[in-house]
This record gives sequence, structure tokens and C-alpha cells, in this order.
Amino acid sequence: MRLDRFLSETTELTRSLAKRALKREEVTVNGEVTKQSALQLDLEQDKVTWNGVSLELVGLRYLMINKPEGVECTARRGLYPRVVELIDLPKVERLQSVGRLDVDTTGLLLLTDDGHWSHRVSAPKKRCGKVYLASLAQPLEGKQAEEAIARVSEGLMLDGEEELTHPATLEMLTPTQARLTITEGRYHQVKRMFAALGNHVEALHRESIGPLVLDPSLEPGEWRELTAEEVALF
Ligand code: URA
Repeated sequence: MRLDRFLSETTELTRSLAKRALKREEVTVNGEVTKQSALQLDLEQDKVTWNGVSLELVGLRYLMINKPEGVECTARRGLYPRVVELIDLPKVERLQSVGRLDVDTTGLLLLTDDGHWSHRVSAPKKRCGKVYLASLAQPLEGKQAEEAIARVSEGLMLDGEEELTHPATLEMLTPTQARLTITEGRYHQVKRMFAALGNHVEALHRESIGPLVLDPSLEPGEWRELTAEEVALF
């Protein structure tokens, strides 16, 4: 890899700022100051420093965060703070969320800079079950609950759509607390499914994605890297 590219991958410098840092003699390779931006590095052996700090290439990263309310999953700055702003890692802008949660939804969110892995987790063909806890505005019990469970398992027609939702599983924990497992990721899907049942979701929390469950030790806003075993689940 060229030295200027290495600098831009491992620091906040752009390629052109990296060239300027080289000209200012701020960079060493194997202990020697160099100004050569096109120098080809041997990534196995060469040791690079910038202003005395040694630099390492970051590999692909895989994180889970307990998303709090009031943060957005988008890459662009908008009305709300972005999830990446909660993560204190270099080059954090490269991390993308795997699917999205609404600004008011809490719970398990995965972030990665590995596009292939992200695709494997969220590809509709994989039918990866996502489990949500929903607090409902209207109590759902007795015969009404039985009917809702049956309708969800058969598929619902969402407002403005032409295809039924895939069969999903609804479990009533209390008359106003529901656990819903879906295998798709349509826009505002859970809220729209409860709207199709004549109800309204007041709070929504994601517990798991496929075999990966939100780590109970993570407080809202806290994150951790996935273990190699967790990454290999998908
Ligand atoms: N379904 C929703 O309606 N909102 C989410 O954030 C996730 C799933």
C-alpha cells in the first residue's frame, strides 16, 4: 500500500493532508523520516509513525450497541445525534448500521464496515428473525389477541403495500406488552403491523437479530465489539 493511502486509512488525514504531513517531515518509516508519498509499504513489516505515534491499519470491525432513544442510524447529520457519535473509535464514520431502527426505537443495533457481512445479516432471503418488544396503546387480550396472533402468522397487508408481510410470530406477554418476531425489514414494519391490527406502538425495543441477543450488560448508549464467534454466526 502507498504511504499516503496508509496515512489516510490510519489517521484523520485525507490523502492531500497526508502529503503535507510528509512534506513537514512528520512521518517516519522504520525510524527514518520520509517525504515520499508514493513509497510502497510492506504491511507485514514496515513500522510507520506520525508525530511520534505509531500507526496500525484497522481491520474490519463488528459492533453491537444498545441504541438509546433520540439517536438516528443515518450516516448524514440531521435533526438528531447519530449513533456513530456514541462510539469512540478511529474512522468511526466508516461504520454503517446493519438495517435501521427508528429514532425512538431502542435496543440491539449492529454496526460494521464489512459490507458483505452486513448483507448476510440483512438479506431478505436469509429470513433472519428479528425480535421486538412492543408496548401497545390498546390492551390486546382474549379472543382479540388470538385473532391478532393468527393474522400475524398468516401475513398482514400493510397500508400502501401490495404484498402480505411474511408469516411472523406474535406473543402477548401482558395485554399491552407484545413480543413480535419478523423476518423482513420493511419501513417502520412493526409499527405498521400493529397499525394494521388497529393498535398503536408506544415504545419499541429490539431484543435480538437471528441468534445474536443484545448483551444485557450494555446500558442504553453502550457498545462492545462482537466476539469472533458472534461474527461467525452469520
Ligand atoms: N419496525 C419499526 O416500526 N421500527 C423500527 O425501528 C424497527 C422495526
